[in-house]
Amino acid sequence: MRPALLNPLFVPVTSLSGVGPKQDRLFRHLLARDETPRLVDLLFHLPASVVDRRARPKIRDAVPGTIVTLEVSVDRHRPAPPGRSRAPHLVYASDETGSVVLTYFRAQPSYVEKLLPAGSKRYVSGTVQMFDGTLQIVHPDRVVDEAGLAELSGIDPVYPLTQGLAPGALRRAIAQALQNLPVLPEWTDPKILRRCGFPPLAQALRRVHVPLELTDTLPEGPFWSRLAFDELLAGQLALTLVRARLRRPAGNRHAGDGHLRNRIIDALPYALTASQQQAVAAIIEDLRQPVRMLRLLQGDVGSGKTVVALLAACAVAESGKQTALMAPTEVLARQHIKTIAPLAERAGLRVAILTGREKGRERREITARLAEGDIDLLVGTHALIQDEVTFKSLALAVVDEQHRFGVRERLALTTKGEAVDVLVLSATPIPRTLVLTYFGDMDVSELRDKPAGRQPIDTRAVSDGRLTEVIDAVGRAVKAGKLAYWICPLVEESDAVDLSDAEQRYQSLKARFGDRVGLVHGKMRGPEKDRVMAQFAAGEINLLVATTVVEVGVDVPAATIMVIENAERFGLAQLHQLRGRIGRGSEPSTCLLLYREPLGEMSAARLRVIRETTDGFRIAEEDLRLRGEGDVLGTRQSGLPGYRVARSDVHAQLITLARDEALRILKQNPNLTGSHGEALRCLLYLFERDEALPLLGAG
Ligand code: ADP
Ligand code: MG
Repeated sequence: MRPALLNPLFVPVTSLSGVGPKQDRLFRHLLARDETPRLVDLLFHLPASVVDRRARPKIRDAVPGTIVTLEVSVDRHRPAPPGRSRAPHLVYASDETGSVVLTYFRAQPSYVEKLLPAGSKRYVSGTVQMFDGTLQIVHPDRVVDEAGLAELSGIDPVYPLTQGLAPGALRRAIAQALQNLPVLPEWTDPKILRRCGFPPLAQALRRVHVPLELTDTLPEGPFWSRLAFDELLAGQLALTLVRARLRRPAGNRHAGDGHLRNRIIDALPYALTASQQQAVAAIIEDLRQPVRMLRLLQGDVGSGKTVVALLAACAVAESGKQTALMAPTEVLARQHIKTIAPLAERAGLRVAILTGREKGRERREITARLAEGDIDLLVGTHALIQDEVTFKSLALAVVDEQHRFGVRERLALTTKGEAVDVLVLSATPIPRTLVLTYFGDMDVSELRDKPAGRQPIDTRAVSDGRLTEVIDAVGRAVKAGKLAYWICPLVEESDAVDLSDAEQRYQSLKARFGDRVGLVHGKMRGPEKDRVMAQFAAGEINLLVATTVVEVGVDVPAATIMVIENAERFGLAQLHQLRGRIGRGSEPSTCLLLYREPLGEMSAARLRVIRETTDGFRIAEEDLRLRGEGDVLGTRQSGLPGYRVARSDVHAQLITLARDEALRILKQNPNLTGSHGEALRCLLYLFERDEALPLLGAG
């Protein structure tokens, strides 16, 4: 249970004054939460930059184009004349050196009059401009009286915003949240605090939100870094706890005699690549070791991870144990079973699939066979972790595309057996620092060489002004029997718009090319999706219009063409994943990135990288670099997915520091007991990394 002390931070933002349903919606959008954000979410929403309002010139000395704070007497108001609502409401103000006009468009006269009562003294801050020979400030950012001024540092944080959310509304909400900040115990080691120059957490939060110096909000500065370190420490503690549990001695272990493995290898229509062989050898070795396996198998899309997983499952089956392979989507699970089933059959490995779609008698039959030990390898979605799914003797959990699953799912699967070995498959090559943040300390195997005979992909960026040309070219290819994907992007957060884009493209292509065109999208029901995918794989459909459901794992080797519409909207990793659907067979492939002009700098850089290389490891590094540079509105993109404060670029060193610290802590205090243990538990709850805590004994 979360310590009561943290409760004030976990109340909904709607409990703040001035935050109603409309703000709730805006805050949800801003903070990317499905539910009403809590104060803690606001507090971890950090400024992107600052505005310096400390310049306090007399009116005569104010430099047009700069931000100043003026001390003025309010002389008189000139509201917009009746019937001319477009005209501004003007406020004339002055000091002993000159006068200034404060201009408000579309403002309620009563609001402006209350803000700037005639005859009063006010401090007004904003960008001064010269207009018709008069100095003016249009919509001053800040208007305060003497008392208000005392509370301003002169440096305002500038937050990433969302459309419709006023900066002042966000600032006021955050200020209230700061007032609710409880006194928290110190969980970070004093030595680290000293060495890194970290302030106490509360001070760090206050200073990033109420900066006293221009540098206070820099991610590399002590305040932000302190928050990042705590967040990373929480992440590393959680991962280390899970790992400690998974790494417990595993008793009698063996990796079989190889008879099933050899049958599979004999049945393969190809030879394993060198890195596939190495990965299999490493896994077999892990299975023999007296501690459990915790291994990450990284390999670009198409590098052949499935067969490695299958061979691992064989090794486990040879000694009479079971394997579960969990994929993030139904499409992927079916893809796996399709690759695996024919090979398994020839080797005598008993496989089955379980997703949300297997229901009623079929489901009962599968779960019964599983419990009896009549299934060696069960492939599925998160349906695998449901309570009623019990294995006779689960020994290996393979989790595909892991970063879509959280620690919780990972744990749930491993609790279905004794001393379950874990193999994680990741199609997004991840730099070492990120492996640490997402997986903790794991052994890593990489599939760096592509299966032999892979053809290069010719990737081009084409302005959507040439859409007709592209359609013609794709049409010719399709008529010649080639298979092509036509990808329509996810537009914003609205599925409805997304769908209608894909739907419309489908309709227009179908009007031209008839029944050769198919459509698959995320809202389609499972069997229908499968049917279309199967038709595409069989070449009954040549042109498949798809939303990003084909992003991961889908394997139709004969497909050689991909058009990606609005390619500028996709991230690098996603473009790479998508493109990985082609170039899988023996024919050369083409990828056309259709972009809409004008192309922003970041989008142009992404398209350049994707054109230049197909090496996933390089793309991952470029991605990190580009996202590191970050764009102001998309802080979420410049950060580490799953982390709100820590950023891969600036805080890379803190990641290793946090890892070492987590190891040290758990070595000394494995059950997080005593007052320091309490404090660390508090840290885990604050950053919501508490899922590993039930693993510890009570207390
Ligand atoms: P991913 O790593 O993306 O999961 P898959 O396991 O789906 O890749 O493999 C992609 C395709 O490559 C499959 O059709 C698989 O049969 C084939 N494949 C795997 N290993 C090899 C190999 N060594 N040589 C040739 N083809 C291979
Ligand atoms: Mg795969």
